[in-house]
Amino acid sequence: MFEKGYNKARMNPGPRLKFQLNIEFDRWTCNNDVFHNSVIKDHPMLTESTDLEPDAKKAFNDRYVEKYYKTHKKDLEDAEEKMKDDWMTIESGYFEATDKLFNSRWPEGRYICYPSIFNCNPRFIGTKEFQVFYKHPETTNYVCAHEMLHFIFYDYIEKHYNQKYKRLEEKVIWKLSEIFNDVVLRLPEFIAITGQKDPGIYAETRDELNDAIKLWENTKTVGAFVTKYLVLFSNPVYNFPNN
Ligand SMILES: [Zn+2]
Repeated sequence: MFEKGYNKARMNPGPRLKFQLNIEFDRWTCNNDVFHNSVIKDHPMLTESTDLEPDAKKAFNDRYVEKYYKTHKKDLEDAEEKMKDDWMTIESGYFEATDKLFNSRWPEGRYICYPSIFNCNPRFIGTKEFQVFYKHPETTNYVCAHEMLHFIFYDYIEKHYNQKYKRLEEKVIWKLSEIFNDVVLRLPEFIAITGQKDPGIYAETRDELNDAIKLWENTKTVGAFVTKYLVLFSNPVYNFPNN
């Protein structure tokens, strides 16, 4: 039997990922102070709103986003189409590779990627939605592959580490999820899919990344990697970098 969200026609072991422009989401990103530094890098005009009162700031930002969408309408629509087409070229290979890795169904949800005018790339684990900067230098395919991995990884952790998961701090799991992505997306089978040999790292240092790569080489399965990582991480005598 096929589960909801599983597309019979494609025979992929993964969910259909939709691509959809969403100006509201970009307004939210633009007005979120957490993203301010990343936002102004590509949109320096927005520094003008930095010191405004909250209401005036929001009005300024909203107008800016509105205008940008109007003046870049065609670019954005083309980007949405291209992201969709690009993903279609790798999705079956990607889902085969993730299937081998996790050997479990993808969590249910409406998977939606929103092309964004900002290079912030937030994702929502619960709803399976994420934004990808429409001019992302590492390619939108790479970012989609990265964000999608978070969704299945979190599901795996919740299913297999239910008891421990509740005791672990959210930031420990988040870091583990990012380090896992750093390692997995450097495996030859994933490089063949994304075309990215050495993408940006979440690990705080190259040494930390190399430790995680070594850990993978000694474990080779998601379960063993996670278990070993958590043991090492919670052991105060082991100096996992930045622990
Ligand atoms: Zn990530």
